[in-house]
Amino acid sequence: MFKKLQNFFSEKVSTPSKLLQGDFLIADKDLHTITEDLIEVVKKDPDTVELALALGNLFRAQGDLERAIRVRYTLLARPNLPKKLQTRAWLELGKDFQKSGFFDRATDAFENAVKVSGMLPEIMLEMASLSAKNKDYENAANFYEKLNFPSLAAHYLIRSAQLVAIPSKTEKYIKQALNVYPNSVEAWLEKVIFYFEQKKEKKVIEIFDKALKSIPEHLIFAFLEGFYGYAFYRDCYSFTGEAVVENPFFQIPVEIFSCIQENYPENDVLILYAAIGFHVFKDVEKSENLITELLNRNEHFFPAHLFFLRFFQKDLLENNHLVYFLENVAAIYRFECSQCGFKTNRLFFHCPCCSAWHSIHYRVEYLSG
Ligand SMILES: [Zn+2]
Repeated sequence: MFKKLQNFFSEKVSTPSKLLQGDFLIADKDLHTITEDLIEVVKKDPDTVELALALGNLFRAQGDLERAIRVRYTLLARPNLPKKLQTRAWLELGKDFQKSGFFDRATDAFENAVKVSGMLPEIMLEMASLSAKNKDYENAANFYEKLNFPSLAAHYLIRSAQLVAIPSKTEKYIKQALNVYPNSVEAWLEKVIFYFEQKKEKKVIEIFDKALKSIPEHLIFAFLEGFYGYAFYRDCYSFTGEAVVENPFFQIPVEIFSCIQENYPENDVLILYAAIGFHVFKDVEKSENLITELLNRNEHFFPAHLFFLRFFQKDLLENNHLVYFLENVAAIYRFECSQCGFKTNRLFFHCPCCSAWHSIHYRVEYLSG
């Protein structure tokens, strides 16, 4: 029975219903009674440490955090518990507290794990995640850098930059982020916005050029989306709302958009962004040429059609019925998480659904559903 239970609990169980689908008889007994029995077994039997840890994880997965925490303390109260298992128990207890929202207690538990075994990577990983949840971004960045996750370290340095109101400090964090991870899309975005706000036109062009050469190609659209969204547009695909807000600071030189076109002539998504930029900054002919060329080579690129209709077929906007349909099409989400399929029109660097990092991509195929 123990072996079977051990196998069962070592599986990752995420929903209570799965308990009832096991290939041994559990549905006939009250779940509450069974778990209470198991806690008693765990208390008495010295060979059940692994089972106790798995049981706690099961409770946590089910949201029964009180029981999960109780199991950890029962385990930690055992005399002569090997150091390795003590560490694991403290670590899991910290995760339980973190999930319960008791961040101070979670910190204490992780610190106890460090006292037992030193700063192991698995403990550091939990402490990094906890620091981020606590909005202690600098500490989170520090942990992630030590763990050799430079893109995450850069992300949290930029979060620190966004929290400070003193320009010299903001600049320091941005510089630090780019030192840690020179390809960071968040850091380049923050940097270009920083100089844009200060109306330093030459610097903006220079940063734009460097950013296009440093950020991985599949994430450049995120840099452009972030910058355009900040600098001049709200929603250039909308047929009824206010489409474009002129930038209030200075005219962005169109060289910036030529730069996109020259660096990535084959990238449909980036060419669309270039066409939008040209249009906003009054090089309408160039914009129309680009978008026409783009649609000739990729007739299924939805947002390019919308952009074309919105800006180059304005007489269509007089037909309310058509506008109704176009508005609905324009509401289709353009971004998707490549890990879990979460869709949105908002830029994200950390998937709000599955927590994957930098998994955002621009949807090119829409018709498949
Ligand atoms: Zn996701």
